[in-house]
Parts: sequence; structure tokens; C-alpha cells
Amino acid sequence: MNNSVADILIVEDEQEISELLEENLNALGFRTVAVGDGTGMFAELAQNRYDCILLDIMLPGEDGLSLCRRLRAPGTPYEHTPVIFLTALGELTDRVVGLELGGDDYLPKPFEMRELVARIRALLRRAAAARTDESGPDAKRSSSQCTLWKFGPWRVNTGARHLIDDHDVTIALSAMEFRLLMLFLQHPQQIISREHILEHMADRSDSYDRSIDVQVSRLRAKLRDSGRNPTLIRTMRGDGYMLAVPVEKKEL
Ligand code: CA
Repeated sequence: MNNSVADILIVEDEQEISELLEENLNALGFRTVAVGDGTGMFAELAQNRYDCILLDIMLPGEDGLSLCRRLRAPGTPYEHTPVIFLTALGELTDRVVGLELGGDDYLPKPFEMRELVARIRALLRRAAAARTDESGPDAKRSSSQCTLWKFGPWRVNTGARHLIDDHDVTIALSAMEFRLLMLFLQHPQQIISREHILEHMADRSDSYDRSIDVQVSRLRAKLRDSGRNPTLIRTMRGDGYMLAVPVEKKEL
């Protein structure tokens, strides 16, 4: 994303929250429009192009999950517009379903404005990167990049690039951690040699100064798997590492 102003559509029926969002986002230089329900959302989307949609789940009329499903219908002009769900506490199941429906991220209310802004910026950067990819040879890959992986107690949405645990807590991954994790997820229950890992990571200039073992132990720490006997990513003496649990994969 360059530094041009991003347009954010807020779909939220609680006026207080909506105003708070607008005030904060405007102060940071985002342009915002707020609507109170799905009808308002589609009316806005028909008129203007938005860079990101903040979508409340509990709305009068059609709820946010159902709206997201419609947003993601193939062929619509907003099929790829990033969506961040705003969820009230206690909507745990909704959050999971939301990600599976193609929301890119979610934030439980009450949220920290700083965190919301960080997530909006991350999504805008990713969307910009995906647009660049689409004009290149990797176009196909980028359009099928949104996949939900499940392993052990964890889920990973490749669109959002973070871990989600079984209590729906999200854990951010660095680019390196994400890259390493994807290698393990693509080869579950197979030994992956250090050389293979090195090769996989080496085309990233930021990886040279870190040994593979350090990277693995960082990833393990994120996976809360750093005890004496890690159960998710096991060290195979002399051979490398192995993701020891099966992986389930679902295209979103
Ligand atoms: Ca609401």
C-alpha cells in the first residue's frame, strides 16, 4: 500500500462504537463512512470503492456473517475487499465461523484502537501485495492463498497470517515464523531436514543471520510447544524436524 488515503466502511449499529471508530480512524488519516446495517453496506458498496470493511456481527436484519458470505460471492466487485469482524464477547463460535466464511480478521469488543489500526494496516498491505501478485506469474497462487489449516489445538488462516488457539485467542506470527510453519503444514508427519528448511527460508534475506534451530524454537514458543519434549514440532536427532500431528486443510 502506498501512502494514499484508505477508505474504510464501518458497518455497526451501535452509534457510540461507530463514532468512536470514525473519530479515531479519521484522526489517523483514514477516510470513513459508517452505516448501521447490511442494506446500508450494500448501498455504499454500489456507489464507492472501499479498501477495508469493518463488519459488526450482531446487526439488525441480516447479520454480519451472512453479509460476509454475500460479500465473498465469486465475481462481486468486493470479493477480495478485506473484512475485519467486530465481535462482542461471547460470540466465540461466531468468530470461528466468520473466519471460515472469508473474514480476514476479527477483533473482539471492546478493542484497543491501536490494535485495530495495526490490523487494518496489515490487511491493506496484504491486499496491495496480492494485487501486485495478480499481475505476475503467481496470480493463481495468490487467489487461492486463503486457506484454513488445523493442527493440534491450532488453526491458521493464511489470509490473516496468525495462529488461533482453541479458545479463539489469536497469536501474531512474524513473516519468518509464518513461512516456517507453512513448510511444516505442507509436509505433516514427515521429517524435514535442516538443509531443506534452510533452502526454503534462504530466499528471504532476513534469514541468514538466524540458525534454523533458533527459528524453530521461536515458532515452538508461539505454539506453546517449548517444553523439554515438544509434541508438535519434534526434533529428529541428526535428521531435522517433523510436525508430529496430522493437518487438516480447508480452502476458504
Ligand atoms: Ca451490533
